[in-house]
Amino acid sequence: MVKERARILVVGGGYVGMYTALRLQRSLKRELKEGTAEITVVTPDPYMTYQPFLPEAAAGNISPRHVVVPLRRVLPDCRIVIGEATAVDHAARTATVATLATTEKGLPPEHLAYDELVLAPGSIARTLPVPGLADHGIGFKTVEEAIGLRNHVVEQMDIASSTRDPEIRDAALTFVFVGGGFAGVEALGELEDMARYAARYYHNVRPEDMKWILVEASDRILPEVGADLGRYTVSELRRRNIDVRLNTRLESCLNRVAVLSDGARFPTRTVVWTAGVKPHPVLAATDLPLDARGRLRCTPQLTVEGTTHAWAAGDAAAVPDVTASEPGATTAPNAQHAVRQAKVLADNITRSLRGEPLQSYSHKYAGSVASLGFHKGVAHVYGRKLKGYPAWFMHRTYHLSRIPTFNRKARVLAEWTLAGLFKREIVSLGSLEHPRAEFELAAGGKPSGGSDNPKTGPRDDPKGSS
Ligand SMILES: Cc1cc2nc3c(=O)[nH]c(=O)nc-3n(C[C@H](O)[C@H](O)[C@H](O)COP(=O)(O)OP(=O)(O)OC[C@H]3O[C@@H](n4cnc5c(N)ncnc54)[C@H](O)[C@@H]3O)c2cc1C
Repeated sequence: MVKERARILVVGGGYVGMYTALRLQRSLKRELKEGTAEITVVTPDPYMTYQPFLPEAAAGNISPRHVVVPLRRVLPDCRIVIGEATAVDHAARTATVATLATTEKGLPPEHLAYDELVLAPGSIARTLPVPGLADHGIGFKTVEEAIGLRNHVVEQMDIASSTRDPEIRDAALTFVFVGGGFAGVEALGELEDMARYAARYYHNVRPEDMKWILVEASDRILPEVGADLGRYTVSELRRRNIDVRLNTRLESCLNRVAVLSDGARFPTRTVVWTAGVKPHPVLAATDLPLDARGRLRCTPQLTVEGTTHAWAAGDAAAVPDVTASEPGATTAPNAQHAVRQAKVLADNITRSLRGEPLQSYSHKYAGSVASLGFHKGVAHVYGRKLKGYPAWFMHRTYHLSRIPTFNRKARVLAEWTLAGLFKREIVSLGSLEHPRAEFELAAGGKPSGGSDNPKTGPRDDPKGSS
């Protein structure tokens, strides 16, 4: 029985936000029914994204709808508000929220009062002031970006296939990925594999015509799987003719030419930026304490340091790693910690409402699995190292067991099974991103465009003079 009425505000509907709300919905079932507790989740999208499946979604192995979990369905006892928290005044127990309606009508944002705050807005891409990056770079954090990138890659193959101009063709078939972490390596591995497969259906595009380049500033890739498997991944990618450049940085991508710190220049229409993440900037618009990297300073109990009734976890939080030997270590920003922290966080809120002692978060990193394309992967789990097919199989079974809800598990499994029976999908539906273009053209208007497709109008000059 909670001591008084508790209004719990969860900012963010990702790993931490969804799992926290899910667990609270169960543990406070009676209080929610009686009206002595209420849970509000504020998030920009009505779904949680299972990010580890984004590379498979980009490769077309899983439909975009199946890598997301609809929040309203899994959280029927919570209030879902689609919008963005723009500031938090914890002293006044109020969050400022721009909802879809206030934004559309140009109205001032709403102020949501709360008793308990869970701040979990995650992270955003960590960019550098590289000339041209803001105009031409493509991120890889959301399902929209993953599907957009798939469409873009297939569209580049279509462009290359439909021209005799070697400059246009070369630039279209050159794909540069910056950042050798999970996201960059998996996205490149899956997309190269998909493009190599798709090339068999083009009369004039061969896999050897494509240049896939991975640029990494440090001397290794995939640090999450350890040095040995990192080296194996480099040689495996190079064996596939992927140009892996270690100790190299992207210096510019102005005028659609990727210029690298080793002096190489690649005219390209595709620069994918996956060079790390940084905490969400909304954290700076709160009165809560941040560490030097801009994350919320947390206690092992997942409260925000020096405060009461404020909780945090996941990519946005600096949570002490109580299992580490070096002092001051914090848990890494990954799903493995985010999911487990969410459970402890939710239980601690319930305990605190019931006047019970809090528990500490402790989890020793179990290892990582990464897919490098169909039947290819690396895995380092509980000290065991796997490569190739066994690692890829482990990647699939692990993530299938992890993706939330039985419904999603069944759908993903069905898609994989069907893909085993039938051929892979190679179509680009880039025009889905501009559904009014055809009608605008028919109605005599100017298509608002935004893609490279002639139907929807050019994104910019294919010669790269933008
Ligand atoms: C391509 C890719 C692959 C990955 N693969 C793996 C993997 O294999 N294994 C692994 O362990 N980790 C992986 N990760 C990392 C993992 O996904 C993250 O560590 C995890 O999502 C962090 O959870 P979170 O809840 O802190 O943030 P998120 O899951 O990102 O959730 C943050 C939520 O907050 C919302 N939000 C943002 N701003 C606001 C605001 N102002 N107001 C309200 N809501 C807001 C966002 O829309 C989002 O819903 C991967 C990440 C990516 C991008």
